[in-house]
Amino acid sequence: MTLLKNGDGIRWPGGKRIAAMVTFDFDAELLRYSAGGREATAFPDYSRGQYGPREGLARCLKVLDEQNIRSTFFIPGYIALRYPSEVTSIIEAGHEIGYHGYMHDERLDITRDEELENMKKSRSILEKMYGRRITGHRVPFNSFHTFSYELMQEEGFLYSSAMQDCDYAYLKNTSNPEHPVVELPTDHCLDDFTYFYFSYNFPGKQSNRDVDDVFSIWKDAFDELADEGDKIFVLKLHPQLIGRASRVRMLSHFITYMKEHGAWIATCEDVASYVKEHSSIRY
Ligand SMILES: [Zn+2]
Repeated sequence: MTLLKNGDGIRWPGGKRIAAMVTFDFDAELLRYSAGGREATAFPDYSRGQYGPREGLARCLKVLDEQNIRSTFFIPGYIALRYPSEVTSIIEAGHEIGYHGYMHDERLDITRDEELENMKKSRSILEKMYGRRITGHRVPFNSFHTFSYELMQEEGFLYSSAMQDCDYAYLKNTSNPEHPVVELPTDHCLDDFTYFYFSYNFPGKQSNRDVDDVFSIWKDAFDELADEGDKIFVLKLHPQLIGRASRVRMLSHFITYMKEHGAWIATCEDVASYVKEHSSIRY
């Protein structure tokens, strides 16, 4: 059995070996607050979320600037209202911004109408700041709904980055086959939350891994996928976690490594547009 790729004949621009996306979820205090609510969220967890806007984001933007790459930031609408100057600094640095819920709502029983309202409210806030249309969608907390792809297609989203079903991008069939949504899967092993979220209050969330271990895990995944060819690599980061002083340098070293080993590093929107034009894999 041969390994599936991004479709017959698809090749990344410039003969690059792999498409890499360095993405951020700019959740700030909503990272845990939206799951537990005010009563259940211990103050240290809430406060740690604020490390993103207060300090981590600036470090991440500095690394992206030094590396001269463009990134994608998924931002809840509420956070854009709460931290407008920080979101403006992301936009002014030339990065893409995408939809990530309004209050980072993780409820699985949310109705289609409620979600549509979240989407419209957030897009209007984000697009006013961005000055152009939002085309990217990442559900908060992986809380995907049966109606999510349909809603994305109806609302004109180009892509989603939520699934974990493969290492290649594909076109997701919706009721309108002329306008499929491109899916850019990622995985928990490429998520800084897996390694760096420490909490006394959430059972099982007591990670604080050595940065060299994490570099090594990401490098092994990257090398294998680059060797296989035509795969994607979606790093999923949070300014409040990777933006800590002890970690951000590792991110910079890792971006250098990817550049030196054949990565096409681009925004999710750029990769999704390319995939939509070239891929033949539909699910
Ligand atoms: Zn999030």
